[in-house]
Amino acid sequence: MDVRFVLLPGDGIGPEIISQTRRVLEAVATKFGHAFEFTECLIGGIAIDQTGDPLPEATVDACRASQAILLGAVGGPKWDDPSAKTRPEAGLLRIRKELGLFANLRPIAPFAELLDSSPLKREVVEGTDILFFRELTGGIYFGPSSCTTLTGGGERAQSTMVYETSEIERIFRLAADAARTRRKKLTMVDKANVLEASRLWRRVCAKIVTEEYSDLEYEVVLVDAMAMHLISRPSTFDVVVTSNMFGDILTDEASMLPGSLGMLPSASLGSDGPGLYEPIHGSAPDLAGKGIANPLATILAAAMMLRHSCNLPAEAEAMEHAVQRVLSAGHRTADLVRSGEPSLGTVEITDKVLESLTGG
Ligand code: NAD
Repeated sequence: MDVRFVLLPGDGIGPEIISQTRRVLEAVATKFGHAFEFTECLIGGIAIDQTGDPLPEATVDACRASQAILLGAVGGPKWDDPSAKTRPEAGLLRIRKELGLFANLRPIAPFAELLDSSPLKREVVEGTDILFFRELTGGIYFGPSSCTTLTGGGERAQSTMVYETSEIERIFRLAADAARTRRKKLTMVDKANVLEASRLWRRVCAKIVTEEYSDLEYEVVLVDAMAMHLISRPSTFDVVVTSNMFGDILTDEASMLPGSLGMLPSASLGSDGPGLYEPIHGSAPDLAGKGIANPLATILAAAMMLRHSCNLPAEAEAMEHAVQRVLSAGHRTADLVRSGEPSLGTVEITDKVLESLTGG
């Protein structure tokens, strides 16, 4: 199979983890007889430095012409000046918008080998395997907002949660389809006891379940209760779907379950066109250039990319199993060990993944 990928290394540790992940993708192509073509483009702070724009037009064009996009991370102290004309993160928001990426997928499935790194007790986290679907382009982050000065002093600010039926339907169906391929349980999280927008979510989702997905076990949970359940009984959830702001908060809460940011991938998908895949962590400026960043979240994001955008599930599984075997063999990067314990660098742990992939 011929596939054209765009790589967006970005800033900080981005170039280090993307170049190592590219080695793994090249090995997968060789092992399975595919031709993967890679185009590297600018995004974020480095794009501001070189072009003045965090998302140059050439990057957007290359992304549109690709089958899938793999991003490292953007941002860093160099571009943090609040009075700057633009910021690296603006590039990320714009690429999501340009490509209509309305669904953010975040799998939370801690590796058995790393359970003791979790801040929660092993017996609580064990068996957790959640796939979150967060609505990414609507809701309170994009609704009308304003801030006005009051005549008697002070100010009044407002942000509005707005959703239309079609925005709810498209992400809900994606989540329901995914639940069908997993353990057939779907949880919708809202705040329908207070918010009108949540009541629309509840009606729209209930109708779709009744008419199209009666084979699924379906439940609705209020967001405040969900925040508690995620740390008391995370292993009882399968697919979870929710709106933009609730998803933002709950996925960050859930990302603590596996114990390290360096292990978690995510995907942003639209109705058609390329998907965008990335680790959930940032550009880790404190580690940039030291050769010790953990590349495994990016390698796992590339596995998601093969599964969701290229329909190559066997290749995705091969990558995931290679990572699993590396951990089982006891290999760790610095973020996964206590200080003073031996660890491998970015290149060395990727070498282990490659050995496992080509030997397995
Ligand atoms: P961060 O995720 O970069 O780092 C948080 C902590 O986790 C740091 O101690 C870092 O060393 C560690 N860490 C992160 N990734 C790691 C990895 N792969 N291996 C080992 N350790 C890792 O978050 P931050 O420090 O809040 O943000 C740094 C910069 O990244 C900021 O400019 C922020 O805006 C940006 N950021 C970008 C994205 C993105 O590109 N999607 C996401 C979050 C933050």
